[in-house]
Amino acid sequence: MPFEISLAGKTAVITGSNSGIGLGVAWELARAGADVVLNSFTDTEEDHALAREISEETGTKALYIQADMSKDDQCRALVEKAGSCDILINNAGIQHVAGIPEFPVEKWNAIIAINMSSAFHTSAAALPMMRKAGWGRVINIASAHGLTASPYKSAYVAAKHGIVGLTKVTALETAKEPITCNAICPGYVLTPIVEKQIPDTMKEYDMSREEVIQNVMLERQPSKEFATVEQMGGTAVFLCSDAGAQVTGTTISVDGGWTAL
Ligand code: NAD
Repeated sequence: MPFEISLAGKTAVITGSNSGIGLGVAWELARAGADVVLNSFTDTEEDHALAREISEETGTKALYIQADMSKDDQCRALVEKAGSCDILINNAGIQHVAGIPEFPVEKWNAIIAINMSSAFHTSAAALPMMRKAGWGRVINIASAHGLTASPYKSAYVAAKHGIVGLTKVTALETAKEPITCNAICPGYVLTPIVEKQIPDTMKEYDMSREEVIQNVMLERQPSKEFATVEQMGGTAVFLCSDAGAQVTGTTISVDGGWTAL
């Protein structure tokens, strides 16, 4: 039997998807036929325009729903407002870089809430919907930092390791059902979260932009290339296909060889 690759009739909710990887994943899921729900904490004309553009280009339904993933109740409300959720992509994330003694407590709390706890709350709301529908895919966007560590990224590394753990538990709790849960672990992808780190790193190491990219960021990425948002989207589409039906509770690294080192 050929593998099913059309996602027509499925609804995907993607947290933190008005830019970067989340938006890239939304585009690839929509190109594969899924209706998509975009999200961020803002509620601007540009946010809604992103959904309209996806809908016009792909012919699927696309909607933008404002919800702050640092707030437990808003995480759950996002899934409820979506009305259905066959595919849940937990992607929202922020970064802060500082040594442990100096790390601001409010930044620690925000990173743990947005990068990790939000996935617990959205999953809690989505799993009953998936069970009712008899099919589901939970995809957590972790990181190479869910498998390895770097100094000065305590909250981020802790949250990403945590979401890898949550991925395994979700997979075990759904193992006997047609629901899977996996984590995609990107290496460096040139999105706003990474762009924001470049100026400080240039100052810190007295380097040019290109030197920071090649000698600091891609230092641990053996391919010496950024991964792309389309590659994250393609990996998500694979996990949603029938070829991915027995892939559960694991991590898929899309990191140019980082975690092979
Ligand atoms: P990005 O900054 O472009 O995207 C982050 C998204 O999260 C944005 O849409 C932002 O609006 C949203 N967001 C932030 N705070 C939110 C909140 N409180 N509520 C709702 N949405 C919120 O960066 P990105 O690189 O696309 O990051 C997406 C995910 O990929 C993150 O979880 C990040 O940790 C992970 N990741 C990125 C890289 C990389 O190199 N870019 C590598 C590994 C993992």
